[in-house]
Amino acid sequence: MKALAPLIRKYNKPIPRYTSYPTVPFWSNSPNQEQWKSHVKNAFKKSNDKEGISIYVHLPFCESLCTYCGCNTRITVNHKVESPYIEALKKEFNLYLELFDSKPIISELHLGGGTPTFFSADHLEDLISYFFEHSEISENANMSFEAHPANTTYEHLETLYRLGFKRLSLGIQDFDPHVQTLINRHQTVEQVEQVVSLARSIGYESINFDLIYGLPDQTIDSVKHTVYEVIRLKPERIAFYSYAHVPWLKPGQRKYDESNLPSGNEKFKLYEEGREMLEQAGYHEIGMDHFALSNDSLFNSMYKGTLHRNFMGYTERHTQLMIGLGVSSISDTYTCFAQNEKKLEDYYKRIDENEFPIFKGHQLSDDDLLRRQLILDLMCRQKAELKAEILNSGSIVLLDEMMSDNMVAIIDNQLEITNTGKALLRNCCSIYDAYLADEVKSTNMFSMAV
Ligand code: SF4
Repeated sequence: MKALAPLIRKYNKPIPRYTSYPTVPFWSNSPNQEQWKSHVKNAFKKSNDKEGISIYVHLPFCESLCTYCGCNTRITVNHKVESPYIEALKKEFNLYLELFDSKPIISELHLGGGTPTFFSADHLEDLISYFFEHSEISENANMSFEAHPANTTYEHLETLYRLGFKRLSLGIQDFDPHVQTLINRHQTVEQVEQVVSLARSIGYESINFDLIYGLPDQTIDSVKHTVYEVIRLKPERIAFYSYAHVPWLKPGQRKYDESNLPSGNEKFKLYEEGREMLEQAGYHEIGMDHFALSNDSLFNSMYKGTLHRNFMGYTERHTQLMIGLGVSSISDTYTCFAQNEKKLEDYYKRIDENEFPIFKGHQLSDDDLLRRQLILDLMCRQKAELKAEILNSGSIVLLDEMMSDNMVAIIDNQLEITNTGKALLRNCCSIYDAYLADEVKSTNMFSMAV
């Protein structure tokens, strides 16, 4: 493998994570209400009988702000906010039900946040039961939720399991107490262990841990300690994300000294250390930033070539219609993206007016659709058809450079990412990105490649 240090120096620049294409800053032609309804109806026809539909629910409240946070959150300790929010989600779901000519078949349901476990188990049950009353649930539906180890109770775990949730994802980030103080996120190994063993005793089949590398004052030793504890607790999946430093978008990140942030090669070494430990413990690297044990369905879908990537990262399923409910949620009909209002008050207002609370979106052109598929192929399978005819002059120069740096190769008219290129997968995907030439937008909107 070519030495990575000089490549990281060369390619470490702002670059998208490609959870969508086009990436959000480049969305332009938003759908109006009628256009959005038409995209949803078409996607429902193609999706529902064949593969069902997916639902993502954004539950934005958190009791305190983790300073590294990149999510859309509302910080409050007032739990009276739960009930009106649940009612708004039901109303938004009703707007979709009005468009469907048969009962939706839910094949994926994910609760994200914010902190879904901010809500009481009763409120979550009320919401999920409402969805179920108006839908069918596909056999082997994939239902999961994000949980904060510090406020996940037996009632949460038991209630959601009874409703059909078999997976949960715990936000760990780092076990080092000093790092936890800097990022204002406190949870002990014992707390996490307790939630894991409760979940296992109830019957949860797959547990995911979210970890982050590149946090303030993280060192090789602190990452080693965190990963050691993670391996001991043996979650089936691990997301080991690169910290995205975007303080111009997330002012909470200004709460620590930027000089304490590992960057470039130093940051990459943190990932390499964690990756090696995880692989030695039997985890397989999935695409980018994700790991899974060989008995986990995410690994199987990589093996079978059915891996997909969406706004939540890698998933083993893909439905043409994904409905995002709640403030800031993104829906995807494959031909169109739509993001909901980002401010809670605006979201409520639009829902009260009985309209889809679209803040912005993008209707994909034929060129977007082609590039979207090629980038998905690179992200999920590390190879894609070579479509030389769509490369502009900048992309051709990039491709040549990446070939001479042994990051990509052309084999049988396929563009393939080499082992060296996997470390800079986002950069390799950018060969097919027609929008990145807008350097001003790119510099201001994306985190660094490493
Ligand atoms: S990281 Fe999670 S728990 Fe922390 S503020 Fe952000 S959404 Fe809330």
